[in-house]
Amino acid sequence: MLLKRFSFIEEKPDLIGITSGMTYWYPGVFKVIEITRDFFDKVPIILGGIYATLCYEHAQKYSGVDIVFNGRGELEVLKLISDLTGFEIRLSEFRNSQSAIRNEYYPAFDLYPQLDYGCITTSRGCPSRCTYCASHFLSKDFSRRDPFKVVEEIEYWTTQYKVNNIAFYDDALLIEPSKHFIPIMKEVIRRGIQCNFHTPNGLHIKEIDQEVTDLLFRGGFKTIRLGLETSNEATQIETGGKVGNQDFKRAVRNLERAGYSVEEIGVYVMVGLPGQRVGEVKESIAFVKEAGARPILVEYSPIPHTPLFEKAKKMSPFDLENEPLFHNNSILPCQWEGFTLTDYKRLKDDLRRRQIDETF
Ligand code: SF4
Repeated sequence: MLLKRFSFIEEKPDLIGITSGMTYWYPGVFKVIEITRDFFDKVPIILGGIYATLCYEHAQKYSGVDIVFNGRGELEVLKLISDLTGFEIRLSEFRNSQSAIRNEYYPAFDLYPQLDYGCITTSRGCPSRCTYCASHFLSKDFSRRDPFKVVEEIEYWTTQYKVNNIAFYDDALLIEPSKHFIPIMKEVIRRGIQCNFHTPNGLHIKEIDQEVTDLLFRGGFKTIRLGLETSNEATQIETGGKVGNQDFKRAVRNLERAGYSVEEIGVYVMVGLPGQRVGEVKESIAFVKEAGARPILVEYSPIPHTPLFEKAKKMSPFDLENEPLFHNNSILPCQWEGFTLTDYKRLKDDLRRRQIDETF
């Protein structure tokens, strides 16, 4: 299959860029690099993305690429491409702004033979500083695109490619909604854009007031995910204080008033934080259900360069420092006698059973 695809490329490229996602997915990235090398052995390869930035030394040592790029934006990578290839890129056209580039150039989703859904990012970074999250390390500054350019992109995918579902992949879509989310959704509604929207990245609960919930509902948001993580107030404060229990209850009330059902309000509850006891998660699950929403368990993944990573390294039975495979949340990297993998499986099965019982 791969052979067939590459055989259509008649000319050698000047440069190959490969991206990377979660740190513990690196073996798949290495395989792509190996295959690419087999076909274009003299072409320089740049590796960028999340793994390359968070595990820079690991990538430099083991990936086999020519350059590991741990910069943070389009301007830097364009400069690098220009330096390596001699290809002239007029960066001044973008007024030295990453957002300007993101407004002009959409991801090449049109290369998919069939486009069933789209993804969009309208901002980069997050002003909060949760101790388990690398958003701040990956994007030093919090920046947002022009709301009207965002709507233009949504309209482009929905009209040109008939996309009916778009997921927002922002870390902080709702921050200061009057400057960003509200103008975007008002314009989507004004233009009559019909699309189902989804928010797989948890929304900022503190910003969910009546106006925001009304626009979420009227604008067509079908998947609502809230990032509560825990109802334990001490843990909330210790991990950055992005949300309090009263904020959460108020947000759920607003969402219900706007028209969302319990099933539609999914709330992330973090499992396996360093030193966390199973009882804390049980309490959080009960709290979410009592508030009128649906708990969704998410396993903690230790991320290098986050404040909590240091604590995770001390608590974990695995070598988190040297082997990114151990960051994989599915092994519960910070399991201990107060929260074992068996505890976790039991908790998950129990939650699933109760949710099925409630459905029937
Ligand atoms: S609010 Fe969300 S994106 Fe922002 S730092 Fe916390 S976890 Fe990360």
